[in-house]
Amino acid sequence: MQKVNIAIDGPASSGKSTVAKILANDYGYIYTDTGSMYRTITYLAIQKKIAFSDEAGLVDLINTYPITFEQTASGQKVFAGEEEVTQAIRQPDVTNGVSEVSAWAKVRHKLVEMQQKIAENGGVVMDGRDIGTAVLPTAEVKIFLVASVDERAERRYKENLSKGIRTDFETLKKEIEQRDYLDSTRVVSPLKQAQDAIKVDTTGLSITEVVQCIKQIVSEKIKNLA
Ligand code: C5P
Repeated sequence: MQKVNIAIDGPASSGKSTVAKILANDYGYIYTDTGSMYRTITYLAIQKKIAFSDEAGLVDLINTYPITFEQTASGQKVFAGEEEVTQAIRQPDVTNGVSEVSAWAKVRHKLVEMQQKIAENGGVVMDGRDIGTAVLPTAEVKIFLVASVDERAERRYKENLSKGIRTDFETLKKEIEQRDYLDSTRVVSPLKQAQDAIKVDTTGLSITEVVQCIKQIVSEKIKNLA
């Protein structure tokens, strides 16, 4: 099968990474979680006491602690320089600060450059907020995943529990809404559906059903490319 790039965008906890990982595994593609890159900078800023309002300081962090990924049997590991940050970047303080960090143009510019490099040879499933609109505008397949905020909060609640993080459901829902608001109203590359993206509403669908639906879209696209 021809190797294409698959861009998956959507609001917080819409199932992007779960689905993207399965697709990458099934197609033998590289999976890139761009959210983990913004999270890593946010985590570093907290650790190194760089204010989220300090754009130049945040860019320095990207230059000083290169973000790398390592594929392992148990999943993808994320590193900032030598330090493994896979778990640390999922903590609530990072989640609640990341939208402020990701709004900076220079931070985005640096990370987008890295993301484009990863995808330059095709065969990538990349998930985020601006993949179809800014990072890979020529991606052959663009998906915009959505789900009701209640269902997304429910998913995040269960995911947090499985990681031993206890959160109040209503608080979680408010945090998700707030992050979506910040991500979709920022000036640089806001979260929005690309004109040529296909919207998939995952409310009430199982992961298997969502994967099936996207595979159908990918097959159709590839057939039309031939
Ligand atoms: O996907 P995830 O929820 O881990 O993303 C964390 C945050 O990173 C988002 O809320 C958003 O602020 C930022 N992000 C972004 N552009 C991307 C991916 C993530 O601005 N392509």
